Amino acid sequence: MRFLSTNAVVLRTINQGEADRIVTLFTEAQGKLSAIAKGARKPQNSLAPLTQVFAYSRVLLVKGKNLYILTQGKLKYNFPAFIQDIERFASASALVEIVDRMTEEGAPDKFIFDYLLAHLYVMEKAREPELILRSWELKLLSHLGYKPHLENCIICGKELGNEMFTFSPSGGGIICRTCAALSEDSLPITEQCIRTMQRLLATPVHRLAGDSLAPQVREELRSIVPLYVDMRAGKRGKTSEFIKGMEASGDVGFNPR
Ligand SMILES: [Zn+2]
Repeated sequence: MRFLSTNAVVLRTINQGEADRIVTLFTEAQGKLSAIAKGARKPQNSLAPLTQVFAYSRVLLVKGKNLYILTQGKLKYNFPAFIQDIERFASASALVEIVDRMTEEGAPDKFIFDYLLAHLYVMEKAREPELILRSWELKLLSHLGYKPHLENCIICGKELGNEMFTFSPSGGGIICRTCAALSEDSLPITEQCIRTMQRLLATPVHRLAGDSLAPQVREELRSIVPLYVDMRAGKRGKTSEFIKGMEASGDVGFNPR
C-alpha cells in the first residue's frame, strides 16, 4: 500500500536538515510509524501544525524508501492546555513517550490509539494530570500483557489484608512480608496504594478526571509504576534503524512549538 490516509497522534519529533522534521506517529490504521515532513520547520508551512508533539490530525502519507512521507493533512486538535501549563505538559509528554517506548513500528492497535486519545483529552482538563498518567501507564501495561498482580501474594497466594506487602517490578505484583526475602527487588507499598492501583486499572479514564491522590500515595505510585514500566519497556519498543541513526548523529531537536 503506497498511500495511507489515517488519523494520527504525534509522539515525538526530530529535526532533520535545514527545515525538515521527522515525526513518530501513532496512527489509527498502522500503529506506530515514522514519517518525514519536508519543510515543516519553515514558518507558515502547512505541515508545521501537524508535526508538533501531541497534534491529532488526519494525515496523508506516501511510502518512501526509508520512511513514510507526510504530504498533507488536516489538524483536528492540538491540546493547547499542555503548552500553557508546565505540569500538564510534563505529564502529557510522559504519556506519549511511554507509547513510543512500549510499542513497535507497524503493529496496528486500535485500543492504544483510542485510549491514548482519551487519556490526552481527559488530561487536558483533569484535576490531577499525574493521576491520568498513572492510569495510562497501568492500562497500557495491562493491555500489553503486563497487568500487575495486585490481589494476593504472587509467591504464596496470601490475600491482601492486615499484613504489610511489597511490590516487585520484576515479579509484576505484590509480595507478602513473609515471602519478601525471596524477591530481589521488593519495594514497600501501602495497602492504600495497592487499592489505588486497582482502582486506576478498573475505572474508565473519563471517570478519573475529578479525582486526586493523597500525597503519600502519589509519592508511592511515582516510585513504583515508572519502575515497572522501565522493566517491561526494556523488552519492547523498537524504533526504526533510520531514526536510531538520526539520533546517534545528534540531529535531534525537541520542539514544544
Ligand atoms: Zn507470600
